Amino acid sequence: MNNERLLSLFCELVQIESPSRDEAAMAKRCARELSEMGFSVEFDNSVQATGSTTGNLVAHLPGTCPGHIVLSAHMDTVQPCTNIVPIVEEGIVRSSGQTILSADDKAGIAAIFEAVRTTLEQSVPRPDITVVLTTCEELSLLGAGALDINLLPEGAPCFIFDADGAPGTVIMGAPCHRSFEAHFLGRAAHAGVEPEAGISAIQMAASAIANMSLGRLDDITTANVGVIEGGSETNVVADSCMIKGECRSLDIKRADACVSAINDALDAAADRFGGTVEYTWREDYGAVNYGESHELVCQIKRACKRAGVEFRPHISGGGADANILCTRGVKAITLGIGMTNFHSVDEFISVSDLQACARLAFALIAEAADPIRS
Ligand SMILES: [Zn+2]
Repeated sequence: MNNERLLSLFCELVQIESPSRDEAAMAKRCARELSEMGFSVEFDNSVQATGSTTGNLVAHLPGTCPGHIVLSAHMDTVQPCTNIVPIVEEGIVRSSGQTILSADDKAGIAAIFEAVRTTLEQSVPRPDITVVLTTCEELSLLGAGALDINLLPEGAPCFIFDADGAPGTVIMGAPCHRSFEAHFLGRAAHAGVEPEAGISAIQMAASAIANMSLGRLDDITTANVGVIEGGSETNVVADSCMIKGECRSLDIKRADACVSAINDALDAAADRFGGTVEYTWREDYGAVNYGESHELVCQIKRACKRAGVEFRPHISGGGADANILCTRGVKAITLGIGMTNFHSVDEFISVSDLQACARLAFALIAEAADPIRS
């Protein structure tokens, strides 16, 4: 592992501006790096679905032994990401404080590249390696949702370097995500002259929301109403009101129960006030739920041992590319990379975590080539 090269590549990558939907410059730089290492690089046709300046990047390098592995990260970042200046001080990389650092997820990309370079330099046996770099992860996982799955080797384990928590952190579970939009229709009337002729859509929505269980419903299920819009003037009984909300759970049955309870509250409110409600649900992505003995998890445990990093199983409350890819039949799992305070101008990563992350990626490649038998 060349730690200097790793840090310098990371600092270079964070300076390439790549907000969601404008990852083309970053994609070009990554394609160059991968081509230099002998990968054949292609881009899928996800641009139409994502509106990005580039497709998802998929690169293949044939192995020297049986087996295959997919290493993945995302190229886009949240804002503010213009003119990021990485500052390395006392073993920590941070931004100047005006922008994010974008360790999320450029630390993941830099670690993958260094791991592959080291594998090639050491001339050790290696499996087929596929690198997948997605766009628009920060926009509800749009890029992974539009990824051309046919470009991935079938059945290959896919390790996604994109979670907080020290390297060795493994996202064993992450909830499914379902969102709804509901439109209440009442009847408009003058609020002072003949309010009894009106049916308030706002009151229906309020009644529905008041009868929903929201927040943390149990240890693995949450629900929220996050948007409400309706009405025009204080002297008009509002004839329409729209609300948007979501539920998440690690357990599909509990998510189903949460959805029907919300539907019941919506219908009951419309009935009570004599209006109507129309609602639609969308399944944004399914849940990730791996047991300790799952083959992917065992592979990671063994790689952690090789890399000298502690195995740390973790349950996440949020979704990631792995949720989308698992829903689409890919064996994907998310790994911690040590980024801290991500999505903020206080974001940082320690140089030692960056290095541990690269060692873990290297160990995963080695493990796929030549599994430790225990
Ligand atoms: Zn990320």
